[in-house]
Amino acid sequence: MVYTLPELPYPKDGLAPHISAETLEFHYGKHHQAYVDNLNKLLAGNPLGNEASLEDVVRKAPQGPIFNNAAQVWNHTFYWMGLTPKGGGEPQGALALAINAAFGSFAKFQEEFTAKAVGQFGSGWAWLSLKDGKLVVDSTSNAGTPLTTGATPLLTCDVWEHAYYVDYRNARAKYVESFWKLVNWAFAAKNFEKA
Ligand code: FE
Repeated sequence: MVYTLPELPYPKDGLAPHISAETLEFHYGKHHQAYVDNLNKLLAGNPLGNEASLEDVVRKAPQGPIFNNAAQVWNHTFYWMGLTPKGGGEPQGALALAINAAFGSFAKFQEEFTAKAVGQFGSGWAWLSLKDGKLVVDSTSNAGTPLTTGATPLLTCDVWEHAYYVDYRNARAKYVESFWKLVNWAFAAKNFEKA
């Protein structure tokens, strides 16, 4: 199975001014593409190349280059889907109720997620996931993903420097503030309803 870089669900300047077209050129066009290319090279001649889906590769690969590249391909695709031009605001419906029940309020949830995103030491990801029927906020290092812990990811924020250095230099907190203005809550709600 050969993996390809999925199309972005918006144009490269669609997330501006919060995330620039230049960031997308590099983050999507170079970094995400490189993970796809590396994964295909690593899977050639490897039994994991016969897995039916990228999720299966992520779940079955041992720690190492195949896991790192497969998880980075999956995490990035999931990240792009979780953003949308004119996004932000608050979720509606069942997800809104579940967030209030789990965290007390949307503001409290946002505060906890922001703390995980800003506080993650070095490269990684912040996540809202559903684990054992409960909403949890968490962060992972490097290519780490909730897919390997039996959780269902609902939303993620990439906090690798390549996600924000062009637009915000070292100011990760400013980038996370902008992330909230782009969140595709309909995507997160759909993931929640499917889980
Ligand atoms: Fe990234």
